[in-house]
Formats: sequence, structure tokens, C-alpha cells
Amino acid sequence: QTMDNSRPDGLCPASGFLQFGLKPQLMQAISKLGYTTPTPVQERAIPLLLSGSDVIAQAQTGTGKTAAFMLPVLQTLKQGQSGIQVLVLTPTRELALQVAQAALEYGSHLNTEVLAVYGGQPYGPQIKRLRQGVDIVVGTPGRLLDLIKKKELDLSRLSSIILDEADEMLSMGFVDDIEEILSTSPSERQTALFSATLSPKIISMAKKYMHAPQSV
Ligand code: AMP
Repeated sequence: QTMDNSRPDGLCPASGFLQFGLKPQLMQAISKLGYTTPTPVQERAIPLLLSGSDVIAQAQTGTGKTAAFMLPVLQTLKQGQSGIQVLVLTPTRELALQVAQAALEYGSHLNTEVLAVYGGQPYGPQIKRLRQGVDIVVGTPGRLLDLIKKKELDLSRLSSIILDEADEMLSMGFVDDIEEILSTSPSERQTALFSATLSPKIISMAKKYMHAPQSV
């Protein structure tokens, strides 16, 4: 026997997500995307992140890891506050664009301003957008650090940092850039680290820069 979750307006009720107590605007976005049930990484990471814990999650691409960190971040985003609240570090331009797109989709009813930044692109347009005001910045570590050094990326209002595909970033040689970004950002921030593999290098970085991280 199958349950018919369809509604005349074509939206799925996303009933499996009710447990998290997400804002109606997020539930609406999830329904529109057709998600009905959280994936295992979402099931475990979303409540931890909503409770304010740091999280270290072992998750491959395709497991729904993006929503696992983006939904809690959007839930706790302060409306109408100026300054960047969330920074997501990704190993590649492609992933930066993909994560930024997901943030726009999940945040479509919250008027969230999202910007992707990466190397190989002129600084001008990225700086212009940053000056206009952005809530969430997604980017590759090198370009993010360049913008921080140019004083165009101000992390003083930051409340969360996400390291996405941390193992990839380390194998691409971004370790110094990542550590510099982490040590520049406010220490009371929340930090989440997602990685397909958890090498000793990643564990030691987590120990150094995260507060009592919960494992998923
Ligand atoms: P990710 O692992 O974040 O790259 O997500 C992989 C794909 O799964 C993306 O196309 C998402 O839109 C989709 N997705 C994420 N969470 C869910 C869910 N709970 N139900 C159905 N699809 C999902």
C-alpha cells in the first residue's frame, strides 16, 4: 500500500521534514523541490546543527549533504542583518556554483542573498556584489582569502563556517588558506565539516578549530 502525498497544487507536503521545526518558507521550498523524507545525513546533522553544535560529518556526494548544512543555516539566518553571516568553503568552482544554487533554491522564500566566488574570474563584479550586501558567500579558499586580504570580505558578523568536501580541499593543497580563514573568523561561530573521508589531517584540523564537534 502506498500513501498518496500529492495535493491539487502539485506540492508534496515534505512531511518527513516536519520533525525539524523548520520555518514555513523552508518547508515550502523543500516541498516545491519534491523532497518528502530526509536522507540519513540530513536526519542526523540537521538537529545537531539547529541545536548549535559543531558537526563533523562523513558524507559522499549525492547523500543530500548540501541540504544537511544549508537548511539549518537558513533557519538561523538573521533577517535584515547586514554583513556576511555564512561562509561555505568548497574545493572547486563547480561545487561553489552548485552549493550557491542550492542555497538560492532552499532560501527562495527568505530573500537570501547568495554569492559564489572563485579564482579565474575578475574581482570587480564579486567585490561589487559584496559591497551591495550578501548573507551567504560560497567560494574556493584561495579567492576567499584574497578577498579577505583586500578587506572586501568582512567576517566580523559571521555566525557559521561550512567546510564542504574537506578532504578534496586538503588534497588540493588548500590547508594553509583554510587555516588562515578559520583563524581570522570570530571564535564563537559554528563550524561544520563535511568530507567523504576522515583522514588524520582532517581530524586534527577539526580538533584545532572546532568546539566539541559531534560526529555524523
Ligand atoms: P547532494 O548530496 O547535496 O549533492 O544532493 C544530491 C541530490 O539529492 C541533489 O539533487 C538534491 O536536490 C537531492 N536531495 C537532497 N536531499 C533530498 C531529499 N531529502 N529527498 C530527495 N532528494 C534530495
